[in-house]
Amino acid sequence: MRTKEQYLEGLKKLRRNLYYNGSKIDRVSEPQMNALNVMCETFDATTDPELRDLCTATSHLSGNTINRFNHIHQNTDDLHKKQNMTRALCRKVGFCIQRCMGIDGTNAINAASFEADKVRPGETNYHQNFLKWLRCFQDNDLVGCCAQTDMKGERLKRPKEQADPDMYVHVVEKKSDGIVVRGCKLHISEASIADEILVIPTRALGPDEKDYAVAFALPADWEGIKQVVHVHPQRGREHFKRGFDIGYTDSYIILDDCFVPWDRVFLCGENDHGGMCALLFALFHRHSYSGCKPAVGDVYLGLAALAARHNGISRAPHVKEMFAEFIKTTELGYAAGFTASAMGKPEVYIPGLGPVPYGPGSCIPNSIYANVGRCLTGEAVYEEKEMLCNIAGGYPSTFPYEKDLLNPELKPLLDKYLKRNPNMPVEEQIKFWMFFADYTCSSLAGAMDYGSYHGGGSPIMEQIAITSQYDIKSREHLVNYLAGVEKLKPGTLTKF
Ligand SMILES: Cc1cc2nc3c(=O)[nH]c(=O)nc-3n(C[C@H](O)[C@H](O)[C@H](O)COP(=O)(O)OP(=O)(O)OC[C@H]3O[C@@H](n4cnc5c(N)ncnc54)[C@H](O)[C@@H]3O)c2cc1C
Repeated sequence: MRTKEQYLEGLKKLRRNLYYNGSKIDRVSEPQMNALNVMCETFDATTDPELRDLCTATSHLSGNTINRFNHIHQNTDDLHKKQNMTRALCRKVGFCIQRCMGIDGTNAINAASFEADKVRPGETNYHQNFLKWLRCFQDNDLVGCCAQTDMKGERLKRPKEQADPDMYVHVVEKKSDGIVVRGCKLHISEASIADEILVIPTRALGPDEKDYAVAFALPADWEGIKQVVHVHPQRGREHFKRGFDIGYTDSYIILDDCFVPWDRVFLCGENDHGGMCALLFALFHRHSYSGCKPAVGDVYLGLAALAARHNGISRAPHVKEMFAEFIKTTELGYAAGFTASAMGKPEVYIPGLGPVPYGPGSCIPNSIYANVGRCLTGEAVYEEKEMLCNIAGGYPSTFPYEKDLLNPELKPLLDKYLKRNPNMPVEEQIKFWMFFADYTCSSLAGAMDYGSYHGGGSPIMEQIAITSQYDIKSREHLVNYLAGVEKLKPGTLTKF
């Protein structure tokens, strides 16, 4: 496994294809430092005695100890550990740990590439290509991101129906040595600090949309890739230092007639498995949210409890009710993910068929529980922010700037007036409210909320997954039996 220093050295060698606010930037450069700070934690964790067991795994390919973010889940214990690793690391940095797109993308492709090879037996080599790529990815402890979301153009039209066919990434040419792809993926988290980009389809695809059923991996600086980067930093601090400085980046990834060699292609034309790959990434990623969202809930509850203490309202009944709301959302989201892990199997749900074996035996979380958990916590994002705003009052939104707090002329006055709670040192109170503002009313907080709400698919996507996969019919039978309309059917009482 690499150290964070080796990871940063690797990034420095990559071609300059990051476009940021009018100029091209290096990967290890000032705008990206906070995002790098977060990613480096995934390397440090592998030697931290408290985190080591959660954050490492044994590769099923080499038998070597690898970073868990590069692991293919072999059993339910791996799913539990991935969820707990995510919660633990997100607690450490206070928000998203960033590397989950890689683990979720690789696990989706692992299963879909295996099944896609069955479509034209002997003609394709997708799974072997993937395993060869994965071995190198694991051995070199690379960082992966996953580029799923397409530009999508007119939302109510399918890829094939778009006025511009490039609204979804697709194959424009097949050659003897590889394929040429064109399109643009957007909002791709941490692509600007990743070593490898995994590209997969966004949605279910019809037989007339085979060119859109394409999955592959490319180095993040590959010829033909341009990244237009959006950076979400925290405001810098000189005196009132934070416990951990976070920052995030998201890229538009423009694939400008980009050549992909065959040995990096994992799907090409198998529309059913392209759709399944899309669904599986979403499923694995929603399961990851059952680790990260509870950690964010942990931070929110801490913010709420401390704000109440600073404001002297901890015992107010409406505040206690809000604490209960935070705990309910956090722990129900975690419980749903835990159950999804415990019920994990090498199976996927296919409408009309129910659960069917899928992939080479790797473990897939239960879809209903992963989706209900993600839906619950995703829909709660703005309600949680409303509660924090309620408890805080207007204070965080107009809090003085650091330099004013330190201005010798203002400092004694501001120290006097900012001392809400006479029993706490004023410096502690200042640091707390500055942190509260970072989390609730900064530009970073606004972007974080969008990610928490839409990442892994907007709540409507989880609602669709839940209602299309849940056995509603058996509930009809139950009620028909209770109403005396029909006899009790076997399984109605014991199939959950
Ligand atoms: C901060 C952040 C980080 C992200 N990171 C990643 C990443 O690393 N990798 C990645 O692949 N993606 C990433 N995403 C993308 C995320 O998965 C998408 O934002 C999400 O799937 C919603 O897609 P969209 O943004 O295109 O919104 P849309 O799908 O356009 O949604 C907008 C509205 O249109 C509605 N709508 C859309 N289509 C239809 C339809 N056919 N019928 C009816 N209504 C419709 C939606 O329900 C919603 O109300 C990230 C997003 C954010 C905000």
